[in-house]
Amino acid sequence: MARTAVLGLPRVGPNRELKTALEARWSGRATDEELLAVAREQRAALWRRAADAGIDVICVGDASLYDHVLDTAVAVGAVEPGLDAYFEAARGARPLEMTKWFDTNYHYLVPRLTGELAARPDHWLEQLAEARALGIEGRPVILGPWSFVQLAKAPLSCLDALLPVYAELVDALDAREFQIDEPCLVTGRYEGFERAWRALEDAAGERELCLTTYFGRVPGEVFALGAAEIHLDLVRAPEQLEPALAAVAGGSTRLSLGVIDGRNVWAADLERARALIDRAITALGEDRVTIAPSCSLLHVPYDASRERALPGRLAFAYEKLEELALLKAGEWPQRAVAPVPRDESVRARVAALRPADYARSAPYAQRAAAQRERVALPPLPTTTIGSFPQTAEIRRARRELRSGALGAGEYERFMRERIAEAIELQEELGLDMLVHGEAERADMVEYFGEQLEGFAFTEHGWVQSYGSRCVKPPILHGDVSRPEPMTLAWWRHAQSLTSRPVKGMLTGPVTILQWSFVRDDQPRRETCTQIALAIQDEVRDLEAAGCFAIQIDEAALREGLPLHPSEQDEYVRWAVDCFRLTAAPARPETQIHTHMCYSEFGEMIEHIARLDADVLSIEASRSDMELLDVFDRFEYPNEIGPGVYDIHSPRVPEVEEIERLLALAEARLGRERLWVNPDCGLKTRGWEETLPALENLVAAARRRRMAA
Ligand code: GLN
Ligand code: ZN
Repeated sequence: MARTAVLGLPRVGPNRELKTALEARWSGRATDEELLAVAREQRAALWRRAADAGIDVICVGDASLYDHVLDTAVAVGAVEPGLDAYFEAARGARPLEMTKWFDTNYHYLVPRLTGELAARPDHWLEQLAEARALGIEGRPVILGPWSFVQLAKAPLSCLDALLPVYAELVDALDAREFQIDEPCLVTGRYEGFERAWRALEDAAGERELCLTTYFGRVPGEVFALGAAEIHLDLVRAPEQLEPALAAVAGGSTRLSLGVIDGRNVWAADLERARALIDRAITALGEDRVTIAPSCSLLHVPYDASRERALPGRLAFAYEKLEELALLKAGEWPQRAVAPVPRDESVRARVAALRPADYARSAPYAQRAAAQRERVALPPLPTTTIGSFPQTAEIRRARRELRSGALGAGEYERFMRERIAEAIELQEELGLDMLVHGEAERADMVEYFGEQLEGFAFTEHGWVQSYGSRCVKPPILHGDVSRPEPMTLAWWRHAQSLTSRPVKGMLTGPVTILQWSFVRDDQPRRETCTQIALAIQDEVRDLEAAGCFAIQIDEAALREGLPLHPSEQDEYVRWAVDCFRLTAAPARPETQIHTHMCYSEFGEMIEHIARLDADVLSIEASRSDMELLDVFDRFEYPNEIGPGVYDIHSPRVPEVEEIERLLALAEARLGRERLWVNPDCGLKTRGWEETLPALENLVAAARRRRMAA
C-alpha cells in the first residue's frame, strides 16, 4: 500500500496555547519550564492525532517555539543555545531581520551567518525522544543547507562552512529517514544544490533522505539525483507529475504526492486527488508512492469542526490528516459538496468588462491640472497614511461591540468622537491632507471582508504570522459584491468637520485577495476582478459624495509575486489591472492615492507606474532614500511621497533629519511631484510619539518650502 506522510504541523495550539505561554514567559509571568511544558504538550497532541488518523510518516522537529529558520540557525551554531539567546535573536534589542516566508503570510527570521558554526542537534533529539515515548518513530524535518544559506541572504560560498555542520547534525540523529526541506528550489535556481545534497547523503549513509520542495515545481534536475524520495507540490504544480513519473521510472526514487492543499482551507476533492495517486501507483507501484499534503500544515488552522461557517466545505489541519487516511484507503463516504454560491449579476459585470474600463478617462498631466484647480495644496503637501494610534480604549470599544456590551449606537458615537479628535489634532498640526484615522478598523482586510458578500469568518481559524503573532484570515468563498457603502458614513462625518480635504481610505483588491483564504474553483485573477469591482463601487460613492482624494492601499501587491520568475509577469499584469479597474471611474479631478509599505520595488517600478495612481506613498526612510536610486534609471511619472520617517520604531525623528531626507528626495524627483508623509500607518504607535513626530514632519516641510 502507498503510505501517508505529513510534512509539518501547526504550532500555536488550537486555542493559541503557545501564544499565551510565550507571552507569559516574556513578561516574566511564567518560567522557561512552564513554557516548554506547553510546547511539548501541543506537539504531542498533534503527533497523537496524526498517529490516530493512521498517518504512516509523522514529522518531528518542525515544531518550534518561534520559527523553524531560527531553530536551524541555533542548530548550526549561528545563534547561541539557550532560551534567552533564542528570544534575544527573535525580539531583543538587535533582533534578526524578519521577512516573508515565500509567498505566505508567515515571517521567518533571517539568520546572520557570522562566527564559528557548530552542530547542536538538541532540538531534534528532544522531539524524536518525545515522539518515541508515545510510540511514534518520527521523521525529522530539517531545513536543508542550500535553502538555509539563501534564506539567510548569504552567498552560496557559505556552504563550505555549513555542510560539515549539517553532516554532523544528520549523523547525530537516530532516524531511519529524514525530510530535507529545500524550498528555495521553487525559484528555479539549481546552482550549488547538488553538492549540498551529496554532502547530506554522505552523512546519511544507509538512511534515506526525502527531498521536499513546496509552493511550486521542482527543477527537473533533481530527478537524476537518485534521492530516496522526492516530494511534489501537486496542488500548485500538478503538471509536474507526468514528467516526474517518466524521470524516475527506471530508478528507485519514491514520489511523495502533495495532493492535499496545505495552504488553503477547502475540503479536498478526493476523487481528483486519488486519480493522481492511482496514476503514480500504476507507473511506479504501491511501494514507491507517498500521499502527502502539498506543504507543511503550518499555514492552516487546526480544527474546522469547531466552525459554524461554511459547513462541509472546510478542512483545516485535523481534517486534512483524515483526508490523507481516506485517500490511502481509497474509499470514503460520498460527500455532498456544497456548491459555491454564484451571483449572476457579478459574473455578468465581469464578463462585460472592456479594455477602456481599466483606464482613467484622462492622462495624469490633465488630471493633475484638474486636481490643482479643484484643491489648492501648498508645495510639498503633508499627509499621513491613514491610521492613527489604536489606543486601548479604541480596542476596548470594538471588543465590547462584538460582545454586545456596547450597543451599535453607543459604538458609533464613540467612534465619531475619535474621528473628531483626529481631525482636530491634524488641523492643529497643520497637515494639508487629512485622514479620519481608521479607529473603526481592527484590520484593513477584515474590515472590508466583513461588509462584502462572498466572505466568511472563522472563530478559531488562527494561523501563525510570526512568533506569537497570529492572524485570522477571512475566507473568500463565493462571488464578491458590495451590498452597501462600507466607509462612506465615516468619511462624510470626518469631512463635515473640516474644510481641508479628508482622504477616503480603501483597501485594494490585490491586498484583500492576498490576505484571505481564497476559493480555488476559479483563477485568482477572476476572483480579484470581482473584488476590484466591489471596491470600485465604494470609489464611485465616495466620489459622488464629494471626496477629493481616495487612497486605495495595496500593501500586499508585491507579496503575491509568484516564486518562479517565469510566472511573475503574468501575475503583475493582472494584479495591476485589478487596481486600475478599481480606480478607473474616478473623474480626472478626483485624486487617487495608493500606498505600499516596502521599499524593494526596484524591479517592479515600471509596473507600479502602470498603476497610474495620482499619488503613491512608499517606505523609504529606513534606507535613507536609497530606494530613490531607481528613479535614476526610470522616470516615475506621477506624484510620490517617500516616507520620511520609520513608523516601526518609537523614535521621534528630528526636524533636521526629515529636512535632510526631503532634500535628498527633491534632488531626485523635483519639488513639484513630492509629498511629505510617514512611511506607513500609525496604528501601532502611541499618541505620545505620533504627535511630536508629525509636528516635526510639518515643520520640516514648511522649512523646505522656504528653502530656495
Ligand atoms: N491605510 C493603512 C493604515 O494606515 C495602511 C496600512 C498598511 O499599509 N499596512 O493603517
Ligand atoms: Zn504601509
